[in-house]
Amino acid sequence: MSPTDPRYDILFEPVKIGPVTARNRFYQVPHCNGMGHRYPQAIAESRRIKAAGGWAVISTEECEIHPASDVSPYIEARLWDEGDMKRLALSVDAIHESGSLAAIEITHNGHHSGNRFSRLPTMAVSDTNDGSLDPVQAYAMSKRDIATFRKMHRQAAIRARDTGFDIVYVYAGHDLALPFHFLTRRHNRRSDEYGGSLKNRTRLLRELLEDTKDAVGDCCGIAIRLAVDELMGSEGIESNSEGREVVEMLAEMPDLWDVNVSDWSNDSLTSRFGEEGSQEKYTRFVKQLTSKPVVGVGRFTSADAMVSQIRRGVLDMIGAARPSISDPYLPEKIRQNRLEDIRECIGCNICVSSDMVVHPLRCTQNPTTAEEFRRGWHPEIISPKHREAGVLIVGAGPAGLEAGMSLGRRGYNVVLAEASDELGGRVLWESSLPGLSAWRRVIDYRVGQLHRLPNVSLHTQSLLDADQICEICDEMALEHVVLATGSHWRHDGIGRAHHTPIVHDGTVPVLTSDDFRDNERDLQGNHVVIYDDDHYYLASVLAEFCAYKGAKVTLATPASDVAAWTVNTLEQTHIEKKLRSLGIHLIEKHSIESIVDSCVRIAHNISGDEQHIAADLCVMVTSRAPENSLFWELCDEFETPHSPQLQSVDRVGDSLAPSTIAAAVYEGHRYAREFGQKPDPLAVPFRQERIEIN
Ligand code: ADP
Ligand code: SF4
Repeated sequence: MSPTDPRYDILFEPVKIGPVTARNRFYQVPHCNGMGHRYPQAIAESRRIKAAGGWAVISTEECEIHPASDVSPYIEARLWDEGDMKRLALSVDAIHESGSLAAIEITHNGHHSGNRFSRLPTMAVSDTNDGSLDPVQAYAMSKRDIATFRKMHRQAAIRARDTGFDIVYVYAGHDLALPFHFLTRRHNRRSDEYGGSLKNRTRLLRELLEDTKDAVGDCCGIAIRLAVDELMGSEGIESNSEGREVVEMLAEMPDLWDVNVSDWSNDSLTSRFGEEGSQEKYTRFVKQLTSKPVVGVGRFTSADAMVSQIRRGVLDMIGAARPSISDPYLPEKIRQNRLEDIRECIGCNICVSSDMVVHPLRCTQNPTTAEEFRRGWHPEIISPKHREAGVLIVGAGPAGLEAGMSLGRRGYNVVLAEASDELGGRVLWESSLPGLSAWRRVIDYRVGQLHRLPNVSLHTQSLLDADQICEICDEMALEHVVLATGSHWRHDGIGRAHHTPIVHDGTVPVLTSDDFRDNERDLQGNHVVIYDDDHYYLASVLAEFCAYKGAKVTLATPASDVAAWTVNTLEQTHIEKKLRSLGIHLIEKHSIESIVDSCVRIAHNISGDEQHIAADLCVMVTSRAPENSLFWELCDEFETPHSPQLQSVDRVGDSLAPSTIAAAVYEGHRYAREFGQKPDPLAVPFRQERIEIN
């Protein structure tokens, strides 16, 4: 282990947070994880690993303080009563094991608490709609409700302290928390002493800080999480007016300021729409107004950028949610001067989608996330080989690269053959598209690691057929083949809306993303119709790509919104805004009927009303076909290899079932973990956390 580069020593200085001290400046801010109260052992194990990885403070996600703050179906933490303490204690103990501090974000989300499970009426600052589309409203809190809420919050703070937490939050961020709703003119229409002037609107936040300090401040640090700018101009809180004034008013009250921008889609901005450190311009004023430590986020993965934040007096502690998911050992790798080993977050927000879709965390870069407990996967440790064996991997996209790297780390003899000139598969092309350059980190991290494994040999320009695979395996004594040959986009339009090919008379060329990758095209002055029945990012990125090449672009989709699934990665609004700003014509709720007579004919999903769009090109983004022909040449219908010298032939990633890059990485990793111990396909492949029967 190399000593820490002296340039980074500053990151390892301790920071005092009220009565407790963080051992360094790495602070994992609260983040959703889809495990919460439902999978307490899973989230505890994940936090144990982050603590061992060097994060000095590890925070819970939002923690409901009472059934009246229920955010079901989202799975967050819970501290409704004493019965919930032992679940959270698992996390606290795991965090303390490595000398880190445990922070808890106790929360009431006001009108965003749908109380769908508890069925209690929802309290809010003013009479208002629920934060969802549910046909329910929240009611304006009376003084008695405010007093009750303060008691709930205080009671939760005491339970948090008794559970062993070191830092207790007062949460006023993201346009989600009740105290934040009180702050904003937009939500707060009260005429009592909690409404009107900013001083009045800040009253509840001040009271909560006083209550929490009084209840647990002797042994816990009190943190405030505040959104200092909502990026909505004068309609919201702005960092140069009310955001600043709130910080001025409360400057010395908390022991720590955790500041960010709102809403969540601005805070967890994807790399497509913002650079590392993009919040600095909004949050940097805070340190000038308080002597208390300030934490902020910015998808920080560069040690130099972190040092710069501290040296320039922007932040005292480096806040991170996504970088800590992508690499739980990020602080340790900086401390050990192993920067090249950092698995940098790519800013894709697949992690966020886990919470939105309500399942345990997933990450494109870190396949072990949320698998620490149930599968026993550690992000830095993998068991050595069970015996000598050799594996030929065909295809070096994310699945092949991850399988090669992980098998290589286990010590197996690995040969990785890739048809094209460069390693990386689909990510090579996609990361060259507008806004996606950070995605290249998926390749860079893995190729960097593979080059350091002497037992892995990498071969580009090696398009293999079935005979060649058998020959190579024979010559090199490789008994196992993994096909990671990926997929290709379908030209025929088959997808969610169409189960048979779209009628097409050849008058409009039909292309896919793969055709743009393989051939430069002059699109100047062309009218390009992009048909999106995929609903993730690709169609919108191709629309940008074509617009930048001078094409007139129309994007049609059967969904109600363009890039509809990206609501889960918090990108939908950003995408739509961007496409509209580029003059791209968006047509929602329409499917293609046919492509004939030089027109793309689309029809409204419900009315069937047709539009005929004269087009020079039509780009299909509907579904993908797996590249699995090699598999069926090498195996019979029971998946048994024809060649007796091959012990196994498997498919991983898109060549089996086209999916996200995250899924391809995960499948490549799973293959490597399970190699040599084929699991029983009828058994549950992981430990389950069952709900206790009370
Ligand atoms: P995944 O997401 O599953 O990793 P990708 O499509 O990103 O899939 O990558 C698949 C890779 O496999 C591509 O780089 C492609 O060039 C390569 N490939 C496909 N068929 C062959 C083959 N027969 N021989 C060698 N490489 C192949
Ligand atoms: Fe980063 Fe994407 Fe992983 Fe989230 S899923 S932590 S954004 S790499």
